[in-house]
Amino acid sequence: MAIRSKLVAGNWKMHGGTLQNRDLLNAVLSATADLSGVELAVCVPYPYLPQVQSILQGTNVSWGAQNVSQHEKGAYTGEVSASMLLDFGCRYVIVGHSERRALYGEDSHTVALKFRAAQSVGVIPILCVGETLEQREAGITEQVVAKQLEAVVKSAGINALGTAVLAYEPVWAIGTGKTASPAQAQEVHSFIRGRIAADAAEVAEGLKILYGGSVKAANAAELFAMPDIDGGLIGGASLVAEEFIAIARAA
Ligand code: PGA
Repeated sequence: MAIRSKLVAGNWKMHGGTLQNRDLLNAVLSATADLSGVELAVCVPYPYLPQVQSILQGTNVSWGAQNVSQHEKGAYTGEVSASMLLDFGCRYVIVGHSERRALYGEDSHTVALKFRAAQSVGVIPILCVGETLEQREAGITEQVVAKQLEAVVKSAGINALGTAVLAYEPVWAIGTGKTASPAQAQEVHSFIRGRIAADAAEVAEGLKILYGGSVKAANAAELFAMPDIDGGLIGGASLVAEEFIAIARAA
């Protein structure tokens, strides 16, 4: 069995400010310098990338963005390309976050193009999938997640998952304080891995699948103890130094 190291990635969403960022990152750096076996990352709003790069360069914490254009360059006012992210040292970019799917109309086709745009320059996409409460209650969680995954696999090919990270984020658990139970999350993670394994066993074995949705210091350890949960994508709690540090330590 491949040993997958854990990844704990913060998703700051539209939060931050130069002073807060500096204090938060310095606190995280000094409290996690001794951590081994877990990788840390923060995905920050675009304007803070140079600041975050200058603070995190050469440390144990990597950084990334929360969205990327599907286009390489051109007349796309307001968009940011993958090569621009690379220019600022981004290791990761979140693609297909449920907030972008729901609030900005990103469909699975667009998500697949963004995924490919990131990979084409060597930025690692963190691909988010997850069902709404309605879909869970209708018993179609697996179909929904499989379809979201399928759109990317069809477009990029199964082996593209070998240089990507997945995040299972049930929409009903995001920012709501309602976390999926470790067993509920494990069930979906194992379904996802199994599905990929059917076509590419090695890719599935090496693939990090993060859980996201109201992860906090109090529930991180039990989630991360599940065999198919390889870390977390952390929203609200990633903005609070003590919380993020405790979550990192639980991984
Ligand atoms: P949350 O957000 O931890 O605040 O629930 C997670 C996410 O949206 O990535």
